Amino acid sequence: MKKIFLSTLIFILTFSIFVLPVGAVGQGPNYNGNETIKNERLTSNEDLMKQVERAADRSEFIELEIIGQSVKGRDLPLVKFGNNPDNPTILFLTQQHGNEQLVTEAALHVIKGLSNNNKHNQELADQVNVFFVPRLNPDGAVGDVDFDISNHLAGGQSTRANAAGFDLNRDHNTLAQPETYALHHNVLRAYDIDYLVDFHHQGARSAINDQLVSGSILYPTNSGVKPEVVEMSKQLGKIMYDAVEDRGFGLLGKYNGGSANTIARNGLAYEYDISTLLFEMRGMSDHPNPNTILGQKSNGYLIQQGVISMEAAIDAIADGSINEADTSFWDTLEVQRFKPQEEAEVE
Ligand SMILES: [Zn+2]
Repeated sequence: MKKIFLSTLIFILTFSIFVLPVGAVGQGPNYNGNETIKNERLTSNEDLMKQVERAADRSEFIELEIIGQSVKGRDLPLVKFGNNPDNPTILFLTQQHGNEQLVTEAALHVIKGLSNNNKHNQELADQVNVFFVPRLNPDGAVGDVDFDISNHLAGGQSTRANAAGFDLNRDHNTLAQPETYALHHNVLRAYDIDYLVDFHHQGARSAINDQLVSGSILYPTNSGVKPEVVEMSKQLGKIMYDAVEDRGFGLLGKYNGGSANTIARNGLAYEYDISTLLFEMRGMSDHPNPNTILGQKSNGYLIQQGVISMEAAIDAIADGSINEADTSFWDTLEVQRFKPQEEAEVE
């Protein structure tokens, strides 16, 4: 009797995970501890390699290069659409942090679009080189690391650091890790990169004007970066900001970031004169902190945010309109702040 009651109770509790309202706030549903975290729809490392190989096979304009291997020996791909040294080059870098995955999904979507040999892509290939390093941290992306991540709320499906426990986005001066070494030696020093977008995911509770944001952006802030590099970074930000703000789901804040050159946004602008933009999407796929995790219900609009902003940047560099972008919006862009979780209303 007691056993039957318990089974019923377990059934109700289990079932209620799927029927409870998810407490949608701001720009989309939050994890809030009452949504199951499912990441299995995200692209595996094996599928990612298949997708970029397929794009290179299919396209007249795409080449695939392996720039190195991760700590655990996984290949690190560089996807190159167009490779004319006379044209400007933009590089999209994703997933330095393994638990920041939707930006890679967005990159794969854009790569797939570019692999069509249609007229639009032929014109683009005449005007611009578009490079991708999708998923610099494939070990962290699958939680295959040499340290304990059992405190992560999705069970350690993915984590921030690389397999050796290093934060790759603090390693851009030392290049002590094979992933950052490969990026610098075989991409940044091997090609003439003009623009770079460093895509990340931030916590799920950042807000401006009391509204949760869908992301945030920032240009290089190290005082050693040349003013013209900063200005071009701000122009890149303007193009991507406008593309996102045009959509109903888009609300971007200004990221409150530091000036150290150990991070890509500053270090790459300083060392190589690359115009860089940090683009942070809302929420991560696994983390110990519930304020950081985002349930899968927001995946669609966040992937879309990545896709439309990448495509806008590509088009504006190709047709040169980026050079006319007005950067004054940066002066009034609100710096995002952490918004504490509202108290749940309980009967
Ligand atoms: Zn990150």
